Amino acid sequence: QEQGERESLFIALNFAKDFFVKNLKTEEGKSIGLSYFKERGFTPSIIEKFDLGYALDGWDHLLKAAKESGFQEDILLKSGLILQKEGDPTRLYDRFRNRVTFTIHNVSGRPIGFGARILTKDKNQPKYINSPETPIYHKSDVLYGMFQAKKAIRDKDNCYLVEGYTDVISLHLSGIENVVASSGTSLTEGQIKLIKRFTNHVTVLYDGDNAGIKASLRGIDLLLEGGLLVKAVVFPDGEDPDSFSQKVGTQAFQDYLEANSRDFIGFKIGLYQDEIQRDPIRKAELIREVVQSIGKIPDPIIRSVYAKEASGLLSIEEEIIHSELNKALLKVQ
Ligand code: ATP
Ligand code: MN
Ligand code: MN
Ligand code: MN
Repeated sequence: QEQGERESLFIALNFAKDFFVKNLKTEEGKSIGLSYFKERGFTPSIIEKFDLGYALDGWDHLLKAAKESGFQEDILLKSGLILQKEGDPTRLYDRFRNRVTFTIHNVSGRPIGFGARILTKDKNQPKYINSPETPIYHKSDVLYGMFQAKKAIRDKDNCYLVEGYTDVISLHLSGIENVVASSGTSLTEGQIKLIKRFTNHVTVLYDGDNAGIKASLRGIDLLLEGGLLVKAVVFPDGEDPDSFSQKVGTQAFQDYLEANSRDFIGFKIGLYQDEIQRDPIRKAELIREVVQSIGKIPDPIIRSVYAKEASGLLSIEEEIIHSELNKALLKVQ
């Protein structure tokens, strides 16, 4: 019974994926959706690789097509593709309208949801609309791009973690395929477990704005807690991996990553750099910040390796790091 429902949902999501992909080839799709992707530098082959598509302008294009193909209303509602009108639940309409669509796949490549981006600069509407939780789409266990990335993550033994759909796609265009996105939400334990199926190394590439840096700090501690080895890169103010790679080009982008990957200690020191020169109080804060992160690492040997590194980089006696570390460790118990 439940298995049957899940299978019906998979089939409905796959139908919608095919529908959105086909829409890109209609006149409307070409002049609005495809030209949008082209402006962002997306090639036909990347559009195909990621099942990018277009949701037509109109209330019920998908609903009508799905019903004609025999899909039941209850499955379409459960799939998150179709919504009930408020105040009149017998009236149904498409969730995704007049937007470009990003298909979200599970690890085996089956469509389980969509993200859909607005095409105008209208600030009254959300930039992205995403599928809701459904029986086949548990957001906290999914990372965008994992299906396309998993082989490269294994081969490179590293996973780049970005914020957005378009960051994943632009990195592929820059020849970097070991990349997944947390899609703007904070990282979960389930997502970290998913990464650990393929590698123990993560490099965080969040947006170069305050929100991105804050999210990096939170993400780093969660990844450390999960036993992963973490690096991070900071982008110039206002740039994200997509905008920056499109701006500087493939080679310069790869060089930038190479030159600016820091482990979490170097990353935190970099954030405080200017202030700690003159201000011992800020330096003490930084030391506590770093110790706090080291305390998240489950393996005591790796912990002590980082304690030694911190002592060197921060020019502070290792005993002090260790005694602060012990305090921090006692606190969590
Ligand atoms: P773009 O380059 O298309 O403008 P982005 O990926 O750089 O998009 P950000 O604002 O950096 O957009 O957000 C990162 C991610 O957060 C998005 O890719 C998307 O998954 C999610 N997101 C952004 N805005 C919203 C929103 N209004 N509702 C839900 N999710 C959102
Ligand atoms: Mn951002
Ligand atoms: Mn962004
Ligand atoms: Mn962007």
